Amino acid sequence: MRASKEITEQEKKRKLLEERAETLAELDHLREYLRGEVDANAEEADPDLYEREKTLALIRTLEDKLGSIEQAFRLAEKGTYGICERCGEKIDPARLEALPQTTLCVKCKLQMEQIARMGVRPRGR
Ligand SMILES: [Zn+2]
Repeated sequence: MRASKEITEQEKKRKLLEERAETLAELDHLREYLRGEVDANAEEADPDLYEREKTLALIRTLEDKLGSIEQAFRLAEKGTYGICERCGEKIDPARLEALPQTTLCVKCKLQMEQIARMGVRPRGR
């Protein structure tokens, strides 16, 4: 009998597709929101500017996520889903459960984040 924690290849793909659909819907929603805001009182100092920047940042985050989901899906097609792209080790199933789009193990992810933090600093303020 299969342990219930173990998910099949099919389930992984289904999960990724669900995640992808959700992310796309959210992106649509946010882009719609931005479209509605733009052009209203373009000449005045825009009190919603901050909100808009936040939305833009969120869109970028979601686009990144979408990229990861698609990458993970490609890996699932190749049958290497769940294997860290960077070091080739198996990714912790609990991590995959929580973050189905991940293609890196925790160790590599942390290293990548450190590199990103050093390279890209938030501008201004
Ligand atoms: Zn790794």
